[in-house]
Amino acid sequence: MPEKITLNPDSTLNVSDTPIIPFVEGDGTGVDIWPAAKHVLDAAAARHGKTVEWQEVLAGEKAFNETGSWLPDETVETFRDYLIGIKGPLTTPVGGGFRSLNVALRQLLDLYVCLRPVRWFQGVPSPVKHPELVDMVIFRENTEDIYAGIEAEAGSDIADKLRATIKELFDRDIREDSGIGIKPVSRTGSHRLQRAALNYAVSHNRESVTWVHKGNIMKFTEGAFQNWGYELVREEFSDAAVGWDDCGGDPGDKILVKDAIADIALQQVLTRPAEFDVIATMNLNGDYLSDALAAQVGGIGIAPGGNINYVTGHGIFEATHGTAPKYAGQDKVNPSSVLLSGVMMYEHLGWQEAADDIIGAMEVTIAEKIVTYDFARLMDGATQVACSEFASAIVDRLGQRLN
Ligand code: NAP
Repeated sequence: MPEKITLNPDSTLNVSDTPIIPFVEGDGTGVDIWPAAKHVLDAAAARHGKTVEWQEVLAGEKAFNETGSWLPDETVETFRDYLIGIKGPLTTPVGGGFRSLNVALRQLLDLYVCLRPVRWFQGVPSPVKHPELVDMVIFRENTEDIYAGIEAEAGSDIADKLRATIKELFDRDIREDSGIGIKPVSRTGSHRLQRAALNYAVSHNRESVTWVHKGNIMKFTEGAFQNWGYELVREEFSDAAVGWDDCGGDPGDKILVKDAIADIALQQVLTRPAEFDVIATMNLNGDYLSDALAAQVGGIGIAPGGNINYVTGHGIFEATHGTAPKYAGQDKVNPSSVLLSGVMMYEHLGWQEAADDIIGAMEVTIAEKIVTYDFARLMDGATQVACSEFASAIVDRLGQRLN
């Protein structure tokens, strides 16, 4: 009997072997990548006696065409009710009232963590010499900083009032033709993101957590993020983790918590990737970092993502690329981003064996150079296959592992 996933009093999830999981197919190439991903996800679950009851919900163009709304209330309420869901890419409506449907969903469900694991699969074309050293997990704050940013247009009444107030409060002159932006960063918002990163590091036996910030310039937002992070380690994680300054860089058998200024971090994730493990950062830094890191391991065709609230239990896992409309319906593009998002979802549900099976089979498939066009064009001797054929190749290899 298909059942809802529910939340236990300790904020863990209660997941049966037959959970109901809502999905949004996605616009554009969603029609290609979602069925391919589902094929693999179903086959892997079945190997372990599990079956997902997929329940389609509408968002994006399909929703607009059928209901007149880009993001029907019913969709949001279904995600709210069933806790965990997955989605393909969505068109950003022009003049549709939303900045982005993805951002709207994150805000409506208060999904405060954008989780982006970044690892390399053997054989995937990469622009760096040692992509195998990249194995990082990024916790990007999803609700504050520029996502909660307030802007006033240059020359507007509000900008004039803000300039006057800033002159009065800070005795600072702002040029008359300036647009003005304000970004809030709170202790509450920082702590819940940092707590999630530290919990992840503990439960996944990770070696370090790095706060990435620009605190040398913005002391009361970015700098505070760093300070609050170290404070949290001392207050709640002292048995498992220790800050750099509190141990002189030698954490013993604890997790080392350190920090890095955002600009140098972007350089060092390229030049010294082995020194980064779990990374926690604010919204804008996380945006840059996630995509820069994804490029090192094969690009957006393969980068998965999840948006999670660890307190309410809500989570929506999603392809990180867009709808690539020029390829829509051609059974051509790489389904790995949404498939690996499904793998993240399985791990989040505690279905580790099914997740490991997919990873193993995908490693074997790519190592055999059976790939979609995006990788084939960068590899010598590749066998280029369609989106659905790539999925079938993975299903055929479920249970196999690279030696
Ligand atoms: P895009 O859809 O991500 O596509 C840009 C390029 O990325 C494609 O032309 C293709 O490169 C490559 N690509 C994308 N998906 C791929 C896949 N599955 N496999 C292999 N390569 C893939 O970006 P866009 O064209 O700027 O945006 C199109 C629409 O998507 C817009 O409406 C945008 O707002 C929306 N969007 C949605 C999301 C989301 O839902 N999460 C995210 C970003 C953008 P090549 O041409 O080199 O093959």
